[in-house]
Amino acid sequence: MKKITPIELARQALIQLSNDKSPPTPDNYRRAYNKIAGIEFVDHSAILNKSLEKVLYEMGKEHPKLALVAESIHKLVEKSDQTELEELLRSLLSTGTGEAVGVNWTTLLRSLLKQLEINHGNLSLSKKIEKLNHILIKFANDPNQLGQKMHILITSWGKGPITHQSAEISHFNAKEAIQEQSTIQTVVLSSNPIPHTDDSQWELAIIWRDMLIRTINLAVAPQLADTSGATQRIEALLKRMRESLTIAEVNVLSETLKSTLLRAELKNDSQRRMQALLVQMLRLLVSSMGEMTIEDEWLHRQITIVQEIISKPINIDLLYNAENSLKELIYKQSHIKPGLIEAKEAIKRMAATFVSNLADITESTGNYQFKINNYQEQITSAHDMTNLNAILENLVVDIRKMSVDAQRNLTAFQETQKKVEEAEKQINDLTTKLDYISEAAHQDFLTGALNRRGMDAALAQEFERADRHETPLTLAMMDIDHFKKINDSLGHSTGDVALAHLVKVVKSIIRSTDVLARYGGEEFIIILPGTKENDAIDVIKGVQRDLTKNFFLHNNERVLITFSAGVAERFSNETVDEVLPRADAALYKAKQTGRNQVIGASEPKQ
Ligand code: GH3
Ligand code: MG
Ligand code: MG
Repeated sequence: MKKITPIELARQALIQLSNDKSPPTPDNYRRAYNKIAGIEFVDHSAILNKSLEKVLYEMGKEHPKLALVAESIHKLVEKSDQTELEELLRSLLSTGTGEAVGVNWTTLLRSLLKQLEINHGNLSLSKKIEKLNHILIKFANDPNQLGQKMHILITSWGKGPITHQSAEISHFNAKEAIQEQSTIQTVVLSSNPIPHTDDSQWELAIIWRDMLIRTINLAVAPQLADTSGATQRIEALLKRMRESLTIAEVNVLSETLKSTLLRAELKNDSQRRMQALLVQMLRLLVSSMGEMTIEDEWLHRQITIVQEIISKPINIDLLYNAENSLKELIYKQSHIKPGLIEAKEAIKRMAATFVSNLADITESTGNYQFKINNYQEQITSAHDMTNLNAILENLVVDIRKMSVDAQRNLTAFQETQKKVEEAEKQINDLTTKLDYISEAAHQDFLTGALNRRGMDAALAQEFERADRHETPLTLAMMDIDHFKKINDSLGHSTGDVALAHLVKVVKSIIRSTDVLARYGGEEFIIILPGTKENDAIDVIKGVQRDLTKNFFLHNNERVLITFSAGVAERFSNETVDEVLPRADAALYKAKQTGRNQVIGASEPKQ
């Protein structure tokens, strides 16, 4: 057979295409040419593709990463995405040979600038910079890895445009972090020298960090908003937290966070205590109003309504109701008050007239005339019922000595006295009630510190809290020095005022979250949650210093009150009955070694 020339072959191949009505594409032309020339068709690209896939799948049995790479190659070949395929092979070869392929920094940086400018939906510029920063820090010492990571990151931005719309920015960021990370991870798996766990740890750290920031911002910061210094501390904590990129870094902040959380809880508690005190004050007020206004039936009814309202657990609606009822009460009372004052004045006038009449009747008794005039003056200037009762009592004694003529008047007089006694009894009842209410409220009536019951409750609560937060707790026990002398020289009631003065000074120095309780007589306990022994000693010494400036004044004379104190920090799991004796022993030592000192239970024995 005559050998056909290549030109003839080409001509016949074109005729064949025309006869077959096939479009003259390079592939069709090659197929027709080979057929005419009797050349067997070999698809070189398919051979390469198949061999590469085969090898990768085989190696993928030992290195799962490579199986994923093979899959990616398969998909890219199907999509005929030559650029991505080249990129993938380049990074594959760079890890496969262990040698880094040089990074084309010009292209990379150009691409970076472009991607930074492009709007990627909710992926903000600051978020992009944050991620870039993370990579820059992490791979600072390895330019090749840095280049690869930057490329992967930039590519991930260019892909899937993010369409989430969310007002909750940090929540979104967390989600976004996962989404982006997973995109990065797919690519990273094929070429990434970082172990998989690094990525998931980073991912976790970011999620935790953002959750913490949100919690602190929304739940903790508002609670400490009006505590001096707290806002700055929380701001600083949040700033450090935002800069943290690993679990280790977030963990470092946990101590600071722990004490902030404790402060927040304590603050919350002190607000609750304050609220309880306010409600208690309201109860007292209403109860005393009820006692004092028994004359008016309507008023009494209103008071009962308010009493009922505040006897239940308080909520905002109940408080609004109580406020409205109180407003009505105050309005009504303002109308009644002038009448009451007038009535009291009338009683006084009546008593004075009565005594004056009495004087006329008993003119003959001569000697008593002077006395009775005197009583008349006293009654006119009497301030209250107790005062009036005392005057009337003396008058009765005098009248008994008077003539029989006065007997009739005496009986009438005794009746008046009975009424005054009834009023006095009412006042006594009210005082007892006040005592009862303050006892129920855990408060010491004389000083305003907690009483023993209050102290027991506070100790139980603070010990439990210290366990829960694993935070320190310190108890201080104070006893006034030579208090007997103060009582002896200035009188017991001045001693009482001195106790109240001390409590006022202590309260002005300790934190609102510390608890002051009257342990008995002139002994006090201070509970200092979240405070170590040395810090507590400083606080108590602060009280000592303040007492030397803030004198107790008696008849305008300065009286210096000093005290001794023992301070004991609770060892872990110690009970109240174990810590208190240690504080007591330190107090004893303070007394023994000269008084007016503060001694810590853990100070070495001399
Ligand atoms: P020191 O503690 O320094 O040893 O001497 P002191 O004089 O303070 O001795 P002590 O603690 O034994 O005495 C306490 C005194 O406090 C005895 C008691 O009369 C007095 N006291 C206790 N409770 C009250 C109170 O409620 N009011 C007044 N005015 N005095 C009280
Ligand atoms: Mg004592
Ligand atoms: Mg004492």
